Amino acid sequence: MENINPTTPLDIYGINVFNDAEMKKRLPAPIYSSLKNTISNSLSLDPMIAEAVAGAMKDWAIEKGATHFTHWFQPMTGVTAEKHDSFVSPVGEGKVIMEFSGKELLKGESDASSFPSGGLRATFEARGYTAWDCTSPAFVKDGSLYIPTVFCSYTGEALDKKTPLLRSIEALNIQAMRLLKLLGNTTATSVKPNVGPEQEYFLVDKEIYKKRKDLIFTGRTLFGAKPPKGQEMEDHYYAKLHASVSSYMKDLDEELWKLGVSAKTKHNEAAPAQHELAPVYDSANIATDHNQLTMEIMQSVAAKHNLVCLLHEKPFDGVNGSGKHNNWSISTDDGENLMNPGKNPRENYQFLLFLCAVLKAVDEYSDLLLLSISTPSNDRRLGGHEAPPAIVSIYLGELLTEILEEYETGVKPGEYGTGRMQTGVSTLPTFKKDTTDRNRTSPLAFTANKFEFRMVGSSSSIACPNYMFNTIVADAIMYIADRLEEATDKDAEIKNIIKDIVTKHKRIIFNGNNYSKEWEEEAKKRGLVSSKSTIDILPAFLDDKNIQLFKRHNILSHGEVEARCEILIENYVKVINIEALTMIDMAKQEILPAVIKFNKFLAETVVAEKRAGVKTNATKKLLAKTSEGVDALCDAIEKLEAAREKASVAGEYFVKAGAFKEYVLPAMENVRKIADELETVVGKKYWPIPTYAEMLFKV
Ligand code: ADP
Ligand code: MG
Repeated sequence: MENINPTTPLDIYGINVFNDAEMKKRLPAPIYSSLKNTISNSLSLDPMIAEAVAGAMKDWAIEKGATHFTHWFQPMTGVTAEKHDSFVSPVGEGKVIMEFSGKELLKGESDASSFPSGGLRATFEARGYTAWDCTSPAFVKDGSLYIPTVFCSYTGEALDKKTPLLRSIEALNIQAMRLLKLLGNTTATSVKPNVGPEQEYFLVDKEIYKKRKDLIFTGRTLFGAKPPKGQEMEDHYYAKLHASVSSYMKDLDEELWKLGVSAKTKHNEAAPAQHELAPVYDSANIATDHNQLTMEIMQSVAAKHNLVCLLHEKPFDGVNGSGKHNNWSISTDDGENLMNPGKNPRENYQFLLFLCAVLKAVDEYSDLLLLSISTPSNDRRLGGHEAPPAIVSIYLGELLTEILEEYETGVKPGEYGTGRMQTGVSTLPTFKKDTTDRNRTSPLAFTANKFEFRMVGSSSSIACPNYMFNTIVADAIMYIADRLEEATDKDAEIKNIIKDIVTKHKRIIFNGNNYSKEWEEEAKKRGLVSSKSTIDILPAFLDDKNIQLFKRHNILSHGEVEARCEILIENYVKVINIEALTMIDMAKQEILPAVIKFNKFLAETVVAEKRAGVKTNATKKLLAKTSEGVDALCDAIEKLEAAREKASVAGEYFVKAGAFKEYVLPAMENVRKIADELETVVGKKYWPIPTYAEMLFKV
């Protein structure tokens, strides 16, 4: 009988991954256990082992159809990079063998000097190295063996997003283990952060996409009048999937499963054409690699379906933007989630201390969290439609807030804020409510047993927000562990620590509506950090307290921070410059000629009407309006051109970035406003680019 459902996740899950089972099967037992030991205890790798692993990896990869290998890394561009070498090695007489050595597995040399280095790598010493990250499994894709690697300079400075992440994972492990031991935990031997990123995206029709230079060059629409319908009917969120979207999602799931990415949930999001995919959470490093892969595969599968996947944070004005909710927790190697409040959080000192560490960390370093998610594209999303404002606060929910207040004041609340859920239907089960409700407006919400950081943008790598999170929490745990180490009466000191942290840092807790105007005012009163633009917050990277923090935990040196800062600010300027140029191009080459053509048609009609003795002057009026529009648009384009030119030579990068924000962005808004108004009056067949309605409602 024919098998009607040939592929199930069980058949394909991880088939293209050189995973633990594969290593166990293919490596001699002592080599396998030594490698495992290296991975779980962050030891340095024995070159002998690398040789054996390389051989096994190559054999496996060749069986999977690979002919090449590539060191896969995550430079500061935010996307991944790869350079492929074949396994082929000539042995004379026109023959070749397939070779791959331990040395090739361990280290690669990247001669490309054109990755952003923020001055860390001058072109005369352009050598960069990639080094195998054995904590993330290798995989086969498109005929190549992909080896996850870090990327650093000749002198060992980090040139990528993964290195500080790995360093932060180690720092967190060290401090969390110290605290656990002080609390009497004898079973855990390591602690690691776990991350589950929920990825939002838009799908648009490929043919329509190709007609929009703005989508092609900038990932977002620079023009476009609002369609008659947006998301106000709230009929897209969780709605039934259209056949084309459903078939896309099915293929996407399968491709991800093959690569060992545990795609779990999928649904329509709030805006038309917007969707979401969430994997099952994994350790922070693997989750980061997998999220990069997810974004790539989302795009490649879309292409096969004649779709384009937009990952930009705000592709369309007037509807929701896309984010990436970064769910974060920490757990021990024996499976305990340290963010789990348990049955009785009030007496769960271990949980309360780790929770307090997060409070302290976030309050002291909210500037770092903010800058870790700030990009020109995310600036457009934050504070807009259903996105948190750029003010960091924590939602803890009623129960946990009450418990912490009790530690602060010593006063017991009448009744703690949790209970059983009553649906009012007797046949339905009652169930215990989560200790926290879901406050959808909070930028950083405690959700049952993890923190959900909702400010992260959809197109960014999650490496940066996660290394920031790991580092700042490690630092706060260090403070707690230091105090406990000194204390003679540990129980009393635990209570004192909780009290001190709550008293000092409770201002960061906010359980109300983060979208409200009142919160902005209140946050200002509380002295919380907020930022309206990437360039307002970026200089904080270089604050002494932050430089010291990174130094203390070996995350980044002063030079590495400076370099990163420079790269981010350069990026800001480049993004807006490309947007401005694209806008000028579209306005001059496409929109203006279209309106002029429409005007010609109107003018000819006016003449014909006059000849025919028509008395009304509606056409004439319309012509006057669109002609004024042409004037205004020409004027606005000239102003934008002038602003862009002036900003481009404004001085060093920070000054330049300031000029782009202050002069170029408003000039762009002005061009858009005039063009969008024209779109609503110019005849459909004259308008040269697809409309919002076509982009948002076609798929
Ligand atoms: P939501 O209802 O918030 O949209 P989703 O199911 O879409 O929830 O996504 C929740 C994400 O949080 C998933 O990626 C899930 O694996 C992840 N997650 C669950 N528990 C943890 C945890 N302890 N640590 C980190 N991430 C977690
Ligand atoms: Mg979700």
